Order: sequence, then structure tokens, then C-alpha cells
Amino acid sequence: MYQKNDELEVTITDQGIDGEGIGKVNGYALFVKDAVIGDECKVKIMKAKKNFAFAKLIEIITPSEFRVQEKCSVAKQCGGCQLQSMSYEKQLEFKANKVFNNFKRIGGFDTCQIPINEIIGMEEPYYYRNKAQFPVGRNKDGEVAYGFYAGRTHSIIETDGCALGIQIDGKDVCKEIMDTVISFMKEEGIEPYDETTGEGYVRHVLIRVSKSTNQIMVCVVTNSNELPQADKLVEKLKSISNMTSISININKTQGNVIMGKRTNHLFGPGYIEDFIGDIKFRISPESFFQVNSDQVKKLYDKAIEYAKLETDTIVWDLYCGIGTISLSMAKNCKKVIGVEIVERAVEDAKENATINNIENVEFLEGAAEEVVPKYFSENDGEECHPDVIVVDPPRKGCDQKLLQTMVQMNPNRIVYVSCDSATLARDVAWLKVNGYKLKEVTPVDMFPQTVHVESVVLMSKKQ
Ligand code: SAH
Repeated sequence: MYQKNDELEVTITDQGIDGEGIGKVNGYALFVKDAVIGDECKVKIMKAKKNFAFAKLIEIITPSEFRVQEKCSVAKQCGGCQLQSMSYEKQLEFKANKVFNNFKRIGGFDTCQIPINEIIGMEEPYYYRNKAQFPVGRNKDGEVAYGFYAGRTHSIIETDGCALGIQIDGKDVCKEIMDTVISFMKEEGIEPYDETTGEGYVRHVLIRVSKSTNQIMVCVVTNSNELPQADKLVEKLKSISNMTSISININKTQGNVIMGKRTNHLFGPGYIEDFIGDIKFRISPESFFQVNSDQVKKLYDKAIEYAKLETDTIVWDLYCGIGTISLSMAKNCKKVIGVEIVERAVEDAKENATINNIENVEFLEGAAEEVVPKYFSENDGEECHPDVIVVDPPRKGCDQKLLQTMVQMNPNRIVYVSCDSATLARDVAWLKVNGYKLKEVTPVDMFPQTVHVESVVLMSKKQ
């Protein structure tokens, strides 16, 4: 039996769902953060259980053939990336396996019944994000600082550039913005928010950049109704080229939720514009917008392919955000009804329809599990009976009541877009028992260097 502080040599033979390396010594499993499948390494046990232990990587004796040099100097400490030391090809294999295994283990599908396609990866799997959220606090020397949270903690890891971060023409936009915010805070004596006391002002800074229009949005999340000397900050930020929208979001609650409910716009129209294909979208600070602009087009194209749209097709797009999927489909079908819980996102969705001259869409506000059954029972008929239901829920997946309603609505096809293949597999298994056949699964890598993977699934009504 092994104990804490024991040092062992182990060969890593598998990769866990959170990216940790897994190896066995005499049948005893070791979970080793930062180890890559194929590494031969020396590890130290940090926490020993009966059948397994968590261990720390001390030395790589023989590096894996899949090991690569990380681009980012804080790749190991920062909680953002888990797979930067693994070749991109191997990352894609890891993600495809993750989706496959969730269908097998959680969905209970026979391996031969999982129609999984090749994962859609990126050509250049760095600097792909269009959004960054930096926590602001104090570093270990007590100075005002920004960075990212270390894995599973709220201590700030400072960074002078993120390998996934936002670039315009090869230039790191975030660094210039964050240096401006931090120097403003120091000059004006504005305190960062302190989680333990609940005192101070600045909590987070949200930055969004459109890769198609280069427009930049900055939203400072504060613990107060006003940010002192905000006009001075606005003056400084305005001098950054392409600065389009500056706002303050008020979040006085304790806990992990980054954005509060209220936003005050200080400069610009309160949104930036971005394109997916030839459709223009207005994006507000509070609205969800996929973070990987290059891959989102590929994801939606796959969803559109699965929807098999025709001129008389009626689509429901549940969890529709600012209407990105709805509007991408509307031009090729009769009508789309989108449903979304965030009020501001629904307003954006309607506005987005207008600015693109798309008239065959309708957006309903509220929780899908409440709005859809109600609206459908009151209005069922030719005009809203779905041929296709698209769902794109948050990680927790679809509400059970919504799944039941979807089956009652009796669409020919269900297109399920998901950022969590575990809840996806659970929901797909339920739909399978309730009349729908799993036709295709396509994983899409929206988040290179991390363990996250998006999937799009086609199910069709059993005859
Ligand atoms: N399809 C969109 C958004 C997907 S993200 C896109 O691709 O951009 C999931 C969305 O579901 C978010 O906009 C979130 O606000 C919304 N949401 C979360 N819970 C919901 C619920 N119960 N009912 C309706 N929408 C919900």
C-alpha cells in the first residue's frame, strides 16, 4: 500500500477527463496533473486513497512522443489550459475519445451503435478567443494585478499574454487594455474587490473583440453602482484604436458569478458587431456569444446540414442566445422560433433579425422548459409545428420537462448542440428510449488547449 509522499516511477498510459495523466504501479492507479500519455516519469503521492492516488509530477524521465513545448510560460499554473503540453493531433484524439466514451458509459450505447464522425479541428489552434475575462486583485506582493485564476483556486496568476487570447493583426489587445485599467486604478487609488471582506471596486474586466470588424468592447465589473473617476478611465481607453464600447457592470453579490444584472454604458452604442458568415450580430456585454469565431461557422454549418432545411421547414431553436443559430438557418427555411432566458439576449436577437432584414423569425423570452410547453399548447398548428428542433443548452443539459415537451412536439429531426458530452449522452439516451434514433455525432474543437469539446448530434424520429 502506498502513502502520501511516496515517490514512484510510472508510465502514463491514459488521460483522465480533466486532462490529467493516468498510470498504474502494481495495479494502483495514479492521477498525475501535467503528465502526458506516454511520459515515463517520477511522481510524488500527494493524496493516497485505497485504490488510487493523486500525485505530483516531479521529473520526466523519458518524455512522451506526444509532448510539446507549451507556448505560454504559466501554462501549468493557470487554470485555463489543461492540454498545452500535448500535441494538437493528440488533443483531438483525446477529445474524440471523450465524446465516444461518454456515449458508451453515460449513454449506455453499444460501441458499434455510436455513429461518430471525425472531430473538426483548427488549423492554427492558438489565439482563437474573441473574449477574455480577467479577474483583478492583488498579487503576492500586494500590488494591484490582473491575470487568470490558478486551477481550482481564486489566486491570481499574472500573465503577460495568453496563448489563446485576443489578437488583432498579431498584436495582443488585452495587454494594452488591462495595463490601462491597472494604471488608472493605481493613479486614482481605486481598490480591487476583495473576496474575503467584500470591499473594493473592480472585480473583473471583460474584453470582447470582433475578428471580422476589429471592434473592441470593454466592460469593467464593479462592486458598486458607480466606478469613481470612471470618466478618466473612459478617456484613457478611448485612445486605444477600434475601441467601440465601454461599460460598467454592477455585481454586488458574493460568489463566482462574474456578471451582475445591471450594466451602465459609458461610451459607444453598448454593443459591438461581429459576423458569422454573412450575418451581422450585435453583441452586448451580458449576452452569450461563442468564443471561437473561426470554429463557430463550422459548428453551425454542421447543424444546418443536419437540419436538412427546405423552404417549408419550421425550426425551433431552443436556448438561442442572441439568435445566432436561428438567423443562420432562417434564410433557408420557412420560419424559426427561438427561445432564450436572458432578456437582453432576446432583445439582441430581435435587433439582429432586423439589421439583417430577416423577417421569418420570432423570439420568445423565458425558460425553455416553461415557455415551450405553454406556447406550443396554445398555438399548435401549421404555423408553429416543428420539423426540426435545435437545442443548445448550457453544460447541465436539457431540463427533463423540456425533453418531454420536445418529444410531444414530434419533430422529424432533433439537432443537439452541446458543450458537455456527458449531459449530451444522458439526454440523447433518454430521447432514444422515447422515439428518436441517434444518426450522427460530430465533435467540434471550439476550445483547443483545453479539455472542453463541443459536439453536434443528429437524431431522427423512428419510423
Ligand atoms: N445557441 C446560442 C447560445 C448557446 S449558450 C449560440 O450558439 O450562441 C446557451 C444559452 O442558453 C445561453 O444564451 C443562456 O442564456 C441560455 N439559457 C440558459 N438556461 C436557459 C433556459 N432554461 N431556457 C432558455 N435559455 C436558457
